[in-house]
Amino acid sequence: MIKQNLLKKLELIVGRENVLSSPEDLVCYSYDAAPLSAGNLPDVVVLPGSTEEVVNLLHFAKAEGIKVVPRGAGTNLSGGTIPIEGGIIIQLTRMNRILEVNSHDLIATVEPGVITSTIHSAVEQVGLFYPPDPASANVSTIGGNVAECAGGLRGLRYGVTKDYVIGLETVLASGEVLVTGGRTVKNVVGYDLTKLMIGSEGTLGIFTKIILKLIPLPETKRTLLVTYPNFQDAASSVSDIIANRILPTTLEFLDKVTINCVEAHTHIGLPRDAEAILLIEVDGSNWDVEREAEKVAGICSRYHPLEVKQALTPAEGMSLTSARRSALASLARVQPTTILEDVTVPPSRLTEMISEINRIVKRHDIQVGVFGHAGDGNLHPTFLTDERDEEEMKRVEAAIEEMFEVTLKLGGTISGEHGIGLTKVRFLPWEVKPSGLKAMKIIKEGFDPENILNPGKIFTRYSP
Ligand SMILES: Cc1cc2nc3c(=O)[nH]c(=O)nc-3n(C[C@H](O)[C@H](O)[C@H](O)COP(=O)(O)OP(=O)(O)OC[C@H]3O[C@@H](n4cnc5c(N)ncnc54)[C@H](O)[C@@H]3O)c2cc1C
Repeated sequence: MIKQNLLKKLELIVGRENVLSSPEDLVCYSYDAAPLSAGNLPDVVVLPGSTEEVVNLLHFAKAEGIKVVPRGAGTNLSGGTIPIEGGIIIQLTRMNRILEVNSHDLIATVEPGVITSTIHSAVEQVGLFYPPDPASANVSTIGGNVAECAGGLRGLRYGVTKDYVIGLETVLASGEVLVTGGRTVKNVVGYDLTKLMIGSEGTLGIFTKIILKLIPLPETKRTLLVTYPNFQDAASSVSDIIANRILPTTLEFLDKVTINCVEAHTHIGLPRDAEAILLIEVDGSNWDVEREAEKVAGICSRYHPLEVKQALTPAEGMSLTSARRSALASLARVQPTTILEDVTVPPSRLTEMISEINRIVKRHDIQVGVFGHAGDGNLHPTFLTDERDEEEMKRVEAAIEEMFEVTLKLGGTISGEHGIGLTKVRFLPWEVKPSGLKAMKIIKEGFDPENILNPGKIFTRYSP
């Protein structure tokens, strides 16, 4: 519990109405979208409205020795906003202005609390495009996207958040304001501190302004749905599309369990008897899209699909993409506990990876739905379980460990886009060698010597 006199000081910084400290509020901010039990309450939640207020909050936290957890929409899947040492949650959703969309410099300058899809709509209105598109785009904030280096549905063709952030204003643990990068795509003046900040999961600083690179909005797009009687043919189609030097905007895989859960939830007519589907979107000029859609359909047809269907209208295409976005929500209806994983392998190893996941899951007798950004080799095996069943949870944990081992053996990574947070702290040394861990800790120590910012995330209880 934060003392009354400290609460008063916080109210002076952000205004009384922007300080939350009732038990109900604190419980709401004690968890995020990761399947970790609540129980770590923050002492207080504050909602600053400007960079200056964030600066004052960090001066206050440093002076009082109180921990700080930055938070956007709380949709991260790795426990990144859980206040395990209590302290202040700095909720950035009031800082939600789009400050500029500039068609001449091809940039947008935004505050961290803008919802990702609001940026999409704002720039598309003037014929520009901000490609990163996490499935959570309708709720997640751009600040959270930058802190996690969010990926999403358009990674294969366009890359991920780090490929579009060219400048940042960041408030450091000391309260200093660090300005990195700027309004130009080219900038090689010293170390690339902007890139260092991207994916830092709230442990190095709090973003208060973000400059995004934009590109021209593609003229049109086309959505295809391909249905397969087995997952191997679906995965082989993915490799073959890429090997044919076609990079669809979206190349998503859904297995039978996921298809059935999504269909039960959305009723959009997905084929419930299929073993796998690919949802594919191509974009570009009218001419390119026509040609690419045909080529993609031709390649998929070589792998014995049950059906290759092209969406007839943009609305139909949009409804298929929305169904894909609802995969996690649909799977989460099955069991009380949903553990969504985030393994990524080189696309050429996709078939092996899915086979291995199926083998592991069968051996441990657990229920899993597999879906993901197949074009990026990024799969989200989603474990459907019940955390009250201790015996089953042990099997789930063993299966997840085996899956990480296989991922690394196949040349992959244990997190493609959701970060380490709290949930993968134990596994970080599996992938990052001691010299890498040492370098990361030196960076953390340099930026935040008193370990004020988001403690316990990424590293095992880092202590100065
Ligand atoms: C249904 C669903 C679908 C999803 N799909 C995808 C997907 O396709 N691709 C993908 O990559 N992720 C996906 N995610 C995960 C999640 O949406 C992303 O990680 C997203 O970037 C988190 O944004 P947020 O605003 O919710 O951040 P939060 O969850 O609030 O915070 C995430 C991290 O960022 C830090 N942070 C937040 N704001 C700031 C700031 N201003 N400055 C510094 N640090 C900050 C926090 O401390 C925390 O470590 C999905 C989640 C859900 C629930």
